Amino acid sequence: MGRPARALLDAGALRHNLGEVKRRAPRARVMAIVKASGYGHGLAWVARTLADADAFGVASVEEGMTLRAAGVTRPICLLAGFFEDSELDLLSRHRLSPVVHHADQVHALETAQVEAPLSIWLKLDTGMHRIGFAPEAFDDVLARLRACAAVGEIRAMTHFANADAAADAATRAQIEAFRRHADDRGLETSLANSAGVLAWPESHADWVRPGIMLYGGSPLLGKSAEALDLKPVMTLTTALIAVHRRRKGEAVGYGGDYRCPEDMPVGVAAIGYGDGYPRHAPAGTPVLVNGRRVSLIGRVSMDMIMLDLRTQPEAKVGDPLVLWGEGLSVDEIAARAGTISYELLCRVAERVPRVVI
Ligand SMILES: *Cc1c(COP(=O)(O)O)cnc(C)c1O
Repeated sequence: MGRPARALLDAGALRHNLGEVKRRAPRARVMAIVKASGYGHGLAWVARTLADADAFGVASVEEGMTLRAAGVTRPICLLAGFFEDSELDLLSRHRLSPVVHHADQVHALETAQVEAPLSIWLKLDTGMHRIGFAPEAFDDVLARLRACAAVGEIRAMTHFANADAAADAATRAQIEAFRRHADDRGLETSLANSAGVLAWPESHADWVRPGIMLYGGSPLLGKSAEALDLKPVMTLTTALIAVHRRRKGEAVGYGGDYRCPEDMPVGVAAIGYGDGYPRHAPAGTPVLVNGRRVSLIGRVSMDMIMLDLRTQPEAKVGDPLVLWGEGLSVDEIAARAGTISYELLCRVAERVPRVVI
C-alpha cells in the first residue's frame, strides 16, 4: 500500500457541480476553467469528466496541448493570452483561442502568418486593472483585429475583481462598463466567473467561466459550498501512523510551540506541507479522524502532522483521516490557514496519488 496520503476524486460531484452551473445560468454556454491542472484535480481527468462543458479555459499553450492530446475537441481558451509571437503557429495548429489583452499582441496578430485564422477573446479591463484594454480603446482595437487575416471569430470578455462580495458597487460598475463598450457589436460576450454565476445573474451573458464552484469550493464571502448546493470533488485523506500518550507539559513538534495541557493521547498522521497541506494551519485547525473532528497541534512538518486525540481516545494506527473534502470543507481549512480554497486545491503535490472513486 505504501504511504496512505491520497486525493480521492469524485466524478459524480464534479458533474453535479457543472449541473449547478447550468441550472443557475441556463441560457449561457459554459467554459469550464481547468487551469493549474484542473485546480489540482488533474487536467485530463477533469476535462474527460466534464465532457458536457462547451469549452475549456487554461493558462498556457502547454495546458491546451495536453487537453488536445487527451482527445478534447471543444474550444480551448488561453485565459492569459499568448506570451511570445512564436506561439501563434502552435495556437493555430491546435485550435487554441487566446485572450488578446495587450497592444503588442494585436501587433503580433497583424503581422502573423498562420495555417488557419485564430478565434480570439478580446479582453476589456472594466475595473480589475490586471490585464485588458481600456473600454474606450475597445472599438479601435476591435476594428484592427477585424482587419487581421490571422484572426477569425472575435469574442469579448472581462473579469470581475470583487464579485465574491454581494451587491458590490464595483461589480455593478464593471458590468455597466462592459455593456456600454462590448454589447451591440455582434460579438459573443463573457463576464462571469463562479461568483458571477452564483451572485450576479445579470452578468451571465453568452458564456460563463466557472472555476472554483466546479470543484466544490465556495466563491462567495460568508456562504458555504454546502449552502450553495456544491459538492466537494477532492477529499484529501491519509491515516494515523502513530498514537502516543504524552505527559502534561511535554512539547510537541518543531519549535515546541504546543505543550500538552494534561496527560493526553497524541496522534501522528502521514500528511504535511510536502503534500500541499498548509504549513500555516494553526493549532486548532480541524481534521476528521474516523469521521469526527479533532484538532491539529504543533507545527505542520513536511510529511507529518500531530493531532490532539483527547476526544478520540480509541483512535489507533491505521485509522483514516480527512484533511478536507467530504465532511470538512476546504473553505474552512483555507480560512484557518489564512488563504483560499483555490490555493489549497491547486497546491496538492504531485506525490499525492489522485484516486478516482
Ligand atoms: C480563473 C479564471 C476564472 C475562474 O474563476 P473562479 O473564481 O475559479 O470561478 C474565470 N475567468 C478567468 C479569466 C480566470 O482567469
